[in-house]
Amino acid sequence: MPDPIHINCINCNYNLVGIDLAGLCPECGSRILEKCFWCDYDLTNTSPNDNCPECGVPAINSIGDGVLATTPDALLQSIYTGFKLASMLIPVSVIWLMASLFLLGSLAWNPDRSTFNLVLILVFLVSKLLILAILFGWSKIALPIPGLPESIAGTPQRKLLKLALITYATIFAISIPISFIPANPDPAAASELIGSIKITILLIGLLSFIVLYYAQLWYMQWFTKLIKNKMMHKRAKQMVWSGPLILVCGLILTLGIVIGPFIVLALYWNMLVHIRKDLKAIRQHTQALA
Ligand SMILES: [Zn+2]
Ligand SMILES: [Zn+2]
Repeated sequence: MPDPIHINCINCNYNLVGIDLAGLCPECGSRILEKCFWCDYDLTNTSPNDNCPECGVPAINSIGDGVLATTPDALLQSIYTGFKLASMLIPVSVIWLMASLFLLGSLAWNPDRSTFNLVLILVFLVSKLLILAILFGWSKIALPIPGLPESIAGTPQRKLLKLALITYATIFAISIPISFIPANPDPAAASELIGSIKITILLIGLLSFIVLYYAQLWYMQWFTKLIKNKMMHKRAKQMVWSGPLILVCGLILTLGIVIGPFIVLALYWNMLVHIRKDLKAIRQHTQALA
């Protein structure tokens, strides 16, 4: 059960410490305990000290900022940093991709290959570092939140996300040394073997990326529900089908100019930014009450 010091009115943010939680908010007059935040069950006849009769989540969790109001601030800060990394690095990666394509394109005409090859290695390394940093951010987002009732703790979502992150990171680590193996070695017989190994790694990598995308969306569906962000909860649900749909339509409509991935990325980035802002607000509010 949350420490009552953090309880606030969900409508007007009024500090409800010491007030009868079964009644009305003294500031805005709305019912303090209305609906279960997890299953929408009507809690007007339920005591704030009881559990929701429908889903079993403590009724007190439906008051105010939600269950994260009692989460230790150090943990919230880590999760916040994870969201910050994962969201900020999306535009950074897009800019980096554009800049390196431009740079490599302008160097491609130079007969001296040494600069081109040097820049190519730099582009390769920085791109890998960016992916590593995003994965690091997601490992922070996936940190377990203690003290939640098991039914809303997001355990299956977290298990899948961690598994997907570890799988993707493993394939990622394997792919780096393999990409340095020349495509046409001596003897020629080895060339075919290396080619098929490279294609296999590429396909497994693509598959693990798709799994990671859905694992992240499933996790976000749970997390947005926990922080009571209905708009982003809807987004996380929509992106399950709209993501691949926009991707495919973008590829077909623009005939090779890849606009689909950018739309999906923008929607996805925007969702992470919204959640990050919510977390910041929850942290500020909890700090102000403490
Ligand atoms: Zn109020
Ligand atoms: Zn409920």
